[in-house]
Amino acid sequence: MSGITNGALGVALAAPRPQRAPLEDRPVAGRKRVLLASPRGYCAGVDRAVVAVEKALESFGAPVYVRKQIVHNVHVVSELEQRGAVFVDEVDQVPEGAHLVFSAHGVSPAVVQAAADRGLAAIDATCPLVTKVHREATRFAGQGRQILLIGHAGHEEVEGTMGHAPERTVLVNSPDDADRIEVDDPENLVWISQTTLSVDETMETVRRLRERFPALQDPPSDDICYATQNRQVAIKKVAPEADLVIVVGSANSSNSVRLVEVALESGARAAHRIDYADEIRQEWLDGAVTVGVTSGASVPEVLVQEVLAALAEAGYGEVEEVRTAEEDLMFSLPKELRSTPDGQADPRALGGRAARA
Ligand code: SF4
Repeated sequence: MSGITNGALGVALAAPRPQRAPLEDRPVAGRKRVLLASPRGYCAGVDRAVVAVEKALESFGAPVYVRKQIVHNVHVVSELEQRGAVFVDEVDQVPEGAHLVFSAHGVSPAVVQAAADRGLAAIDATCPLVTKVHREATRFAGQGRQILLIGHAGHEEVEGTMGHAPERTVLVNSPDDADRIEVDDPENLVWISQTTLSVDETMETVRRLRERFPALQDPPSDDICYATQNRQVAIKKVAPEADLVIVVGSANSSNSVRLVEVALESGARAAHRIDYADEIRQEWLDGAVTVGVTSGASVPEVLVQEVLAALAEAGYGEVEEVRTAEEDLMFSLPKELRSTPDGQADPRALGGRAARA
């Protein structure tokens, strides 16, 4: 297996954590192995957002404020905090005149306005694929349509998207919700979605919406992003052969939680989400011959490598990568960060991965 790194956080990712108890190599009826899903881990939007905070710290000095978690991963947030990032819930917690980064999940126009009113130097690290959904919402509302936003209530991305057309948007939380929602204008409906949903569940929600509202229109292109879709396709290939699937990702990471669900729906006998390797429980491995491993779009590869190291201790040293797609998408940095303090073009302006290649 090749060592894969994508360390937007560089050497800091190797910061020591408390020693974990080793796993035991217990016998099973078969040859132990790991199926490692690919693509997994960092997407282009997460990479860009993390590099944006790093670059802001470097360019403007600490502290740099970040509204909400820059990406939904406890390790990434903790590492950036150690470097001087200060994570806040709302704009009014930021001192006037300070630098404030908007997270990859995006914000509503009201938040942008609040930051401007406070005299903050805002840096918008919203993923361009979320911005695309914002633009759709604004356009559809301008056309007088009613928007059915498929997404999870309370998720930051959903709050930001709804904020672009608050009067015209109805949230649809689940397939069951499709049977309950009320609309004003059934002949003039269009649906859009959160970027990190289960593809299959979203299609089921649309099917049930269309049963009630046959005139419902589709968006011009997929809102569930390439990274979410690719990670789901990869784990679907792994899951039918897996006695256990381990998904590395944080509890508030929508696409990571979806990977656990998709693994179970696709035939994995068990699936668990963890932040760190030391959360793997010995009993999960009892009787498991094949272990699938993947990670959400906000997870640095170093955390997956630590999981593989822990599994190797337990006898799962044979690792086979199951690749279902190649990814080479990169996004340019937010415009506020595209040059160095002396006015030169920054080599990371094309995105973190490019600069580190
Ligand atoms: S998961 Fe998709 S929408 Fe979210 S940051 Fe990554 S590429 Fe962008």
